[in-house]
Formats: sequence, C-alpha cells, structure tokens
Amino acid sequence: MKYDCIIIGGGASGLMLAAMAKVNKGLILEATAALGTKLLMTGGGRCNITHAGSIKDFVDCYDEAGRALRKCLYRHSNTEMLDWLESIGVPTILEEDRYYPATERAIDVRDALVRAAQNNGWEIKLQQRVRPKLQNCNSGTGLTVVTNQGEYDAARVVIATGGITYPETGSDGSMFEVVRDLGIEVTELKPALAPVHVRDYPYAELSGVSIPNVTVTAYSSDTINTCKGKAARFTGDLLFTHNGFSGPAILKVSKYCEPGEMIRINYNCKLEDLPKRFRKCLEDRARGESGDIKTSKLAGLLESDEFIVKSIDARGIVTSGGISLSEIDTGTMELKKCPGLFAIGEAIDADGTTGGYNLQLCYSTAATVAEQIQK
Ligand SMILES: Cc1cc2nc3c(=O)[nH]c(=O)nc-3n(C[C@H](O)[C@H](O)[C@H](O)COP(=O)(O)OP(=O)(O)OC[C@H]3O[C@@H](n4cnc5c(N)ncnc54)[C@H](O)[C@@H]3O)c2cc1C
Repeated sequence: MKYDCIIIGGGASGLMLAAMAKVNKGLILEATAALGTKLLMTGGGRCNITHAGSIKDFVDCYDEAGRALRKCLYRHSNTEMLDWLESIGVPTILEEDRYYPATERAIDVRDALVRAAQNNGWEIKLQQRVRPKLQNCNSGTGLTVVTNQGEYDAARVVIATGGITYPETGSDGSMFEVVRDLGIEVTELKPALAPVHVRDYPYAELSGVSIPNVTVTAYSSDTINTCKGKAARFTGDLLFTHNGFSGPAILKVSKYCEPGEMIRINYNCKLEDLPKRFRKCLEDRARGESGDIKTSKLAGLLESDEFIVKSIDARGIVTSGGISLSEIDTGTMELKKCPGLFAIGEAIDADGTTGGYNLQLCYSTAATVAEQIQK
C-alpha cells in the first residue's frame, strides 16, 4: 500500500503539518500510544503558541539558525499562524506579548490539530516506532519506512520526531540514528532552556525563591582565560531550586554553558531589596574567619556571584542541535541528499528562546512542507 506522504512523529510539528495539508492518502506514524504529549505540557498546560510583534524580530531568537530559516519564518509568520489556528477552531488571546489559545488549554490545540488532520485524509497509527531503517532514500522512486509493526511505502516522508529532552514523551532521539545511517549530518545534541547545576551550590534551602531582573553571564573557558571571545548574557527572573538555578535568565543562558565553565550572576539590586532569607544566605557567605560580615565580599557577591557549571539538567524545554541545516534546502525543508525526505520542528538544528518561538518554528517549517505535499 503506497501513501502520498508519511509523517514520522505525531507531535506538535507533525500534527500541524497534517492539519494543514490535504492529501489523498497520508499516514502519521507515532512511536507512543498518544499524540502530542509534549504539546500538552507547553506553557504549563496553557500552550504559549507564538509571540507577538513583527516576524522580523523572531529571526534573532533562533541565533544562527534564524538567519538560515529567515525566508521560511517570513513566508509563514506568527500572524499567518494565528489566522490559521482560528480557521481550525482555535481562537487565541494575547497575554503580555505571548499568544495562548483562548481556552488556555493545550489539549484544545492538540485535539483541533488531530481533528483537522483526520479531515485532511491522514490515517494515524500509534505505537509505531521507526527503527534504524528508512529505505530507498537515493532512488528517487519513493521511500520505505520500517517500524516495529511493519513496512510502509510513500512518495514522500517527513521527519517530525522532535529532540532528545523529556524522552518519556516519545521524543527520545531515536530517529537521529536513522538519519545518521543515511549519511546525513546531525549536529551535537544537548538540552537547552534547561536548569543549570553548579559546583558547591549554596542556595538549596532557598528552593522556590525567585529574584527578578537578575543578569546571568556564561563564560566559555576561552573567555575566562583571555578576557576575549563572546560571553552570553541574559537578564530576567532567577529561580533557586533544591539542586541548582532555574528561571528565565538561567534557561536562556543554559545553551551556552558547558561543564567546567563559569557563570556569573549580578543580582542588580541593593542588599535591602532582596528577600530576607536570601539576604541572610549572602551575608553568611560573606563572613570572614572571625564571623564578621566583610562588606566588600558582600558587595562582590551581589554584583558577581560566580559558579563553575557542573551539568546542564537533562529536562530542557528544547534540544540544541539536530539535523544540520546545511543538509536541508530551507526553501522546501527537503533533505538535499535524499529527495522526497523532509525534516521539520525540533528535529532540525534550530531552537528558539522562551515565548512561543519553538511552536512558531514547528508551524513555519510544517507550513513550508505543506506547500510541497498538498494534493
Ligand atoms: C515543559 C515544556 C514546555 C514547553 N512550552 C512551550 C511553549 O509554551 N511554547 C513553545 O513554543 N514551545 C514550548 N515547548 C517546546 C515545544 O513543546 C517543542 O519545541 C515542540 O513540541 C516540538 O515539536 P516537534 O513536533 O518537533 O517534537 P515533539 O513535540 O517532541 O514530537 C515528536 C513526536 O515524534 C515521536 N517520535 C520520536 N521518535 C520517533 C520514532 N523513531 N518513530 C516514530 N515516532 C517518533 C514522539 O513520540 C513525539 O510524539 C515546551 C517544551 C517543554 C518540554
């Protein structure tokens, strides 16, 4: 049985593609027993679907990848995405500068995508994990997808299998092996937008306390030793957890942190403006051998609280790295070495910062492929 198109992965990007593209005979192969499990976790269950503002300002939110994907983002922008969501029964609301579904329920987005996909002619098969095999990739005569349950032929195949974080949602990185076996480059994979663990963490007792407007700077080994090179710096809320730092400022900087390197925290405020418990912690750390608080040490900690990174938490909101953009024609999202094979969403080497940029990336890349596979 030959399909027009097979989408591997029934997550955010795969479902968006199926909900957009009408086909005669399409198939979604999903490894787990459920669709869109990670999508249901987005925005704390409320699903921050995209960001407000000009799409031109989105490009910088994906670093280097943003420039490579500029056309794809411009052509299928946030405003287009909002109109399309409305058309499939998901009106949105704006809260500060972030969009959410009007019902504020990620499950309503997931269910609307599934309904639209089924209306568009897509069959859904669950518990079908694609094995390290995708055949006939260079023949130009279609592709065969091999799963734990069978073999499926299609004229076109789309990889929408996500990244490596929260593997319990099904995005366990298994598809990257399949891709590497095809001779396609996959860049280094690591959690991003993740909490950071440091050596000798002194704030475990402050777990749950959050400090606003903190600046966190990550230094690479080169930067520390030579004072040259680029340090990554973000300002936002900082959250203490029982075993490390979290909160927006840390999540953003995490992508630039490596174990053994340094982060520096500037609390950007006077001691008296900090929560009492945290103030006490800082004062204790600034005590000399005699037990007196050293004012200069305290001032130093307030402006420059330094830590060596121990590890980046595996539970990142996204994955940094993925199918190399150099392997992809970003005008179509087709893999240059494998005609008929496409890649979208978090599986590609692009990740955005917090604020709805990652679901926007899913939409823009999926809409680009939808143009190619519409019947
Ligand atoms: C806690 C949390 C909160 C988030 N909040 C937001 C937010 O508010 N806004 C935002 O923009 N982004 C958010 N994100 C990021 C966003 O959820 C992801 O970027 C997005 O889900 C990626 O979509 P995807 O389709 O590429 O991958 P996924 O949604 O991960 O879907 C991939 C699918 O492929 C399946 N699969 C994997 N391997 C195989 C295989 N070998 N065979 C068959 N199927 C396979 C998986 O089971 C999964 O269903 C959040 C992420 C997390 C973890």
